[in-house]
Amino acid sequence: NGLATAIVGRPNVGKSSILNHLLQEDKAIVTDVAGTTRDVLEEYVNVGGVPLKLVDTAGIHDTDDKVEKIGVERSRQAIHKADLILLVLDASQPLTAEDKELLTATENKHRLILFNKSDLPAALTISDLPDVAASDVIKVSGLTGAGMEDLAAKIEGLF
Ligand code: GDP
Ligand code: MG
Repeated sequence: NGLATAIVGRPNVGKSSILNHLLQEDKAIVTDVAGTTRDVLEEYVNVGGVPLKLVDTAGIHDTDDKVEKIGVERSRQAIHKADLILLVLDASQPLTAEDKELLTATENKHRLILFNKSDLPAALTISDLPDVAASDVIKVSGLTGAGMEDLAAKIEGLF
């Protein structure tokens, strides 16, 4: 068992890369093709001493693809069922409509917001998220692994 934790974010923000860092192995498929993660992937991992059941999701976006549609529906269910949300944003890009939709969809959940791609020049700051406490935002990089210890410490601090 473990605390149900959903990694959410629009396609290509780096959810699977972050999951792989947390798992320290390459189970999720990482590519630069949007929509690669079509299904939901569950993994059990200890982060900051807290046992998590991590659920990697396909994101929430409009699509005509039949298989992708099922992934999006499962992502909505994963958010609904989760005890903790890790909402991943691409901090090298301005917020998109889908980011804002996810911020709203998760605002009443236990939530940490990951500013991913922090190895790139920043396009996002905490002031772009007026309803979010600075202490709930963590800068990370799914590419270099930067910030993963901060994330673990934050999760540990929640419980
Ligand atoms: P997902 O669709 O949200 O699961 O995103 P992926 O983990 O598959 O990553 C999408 C693309 O972004 C891949 O080309 C990754 O190598 C790249 N990527 C992920 N995290 C980072 C990061 O922190 N920095 C940079 N520069 N690229 C990243
Ligand atoms: Mg993915």
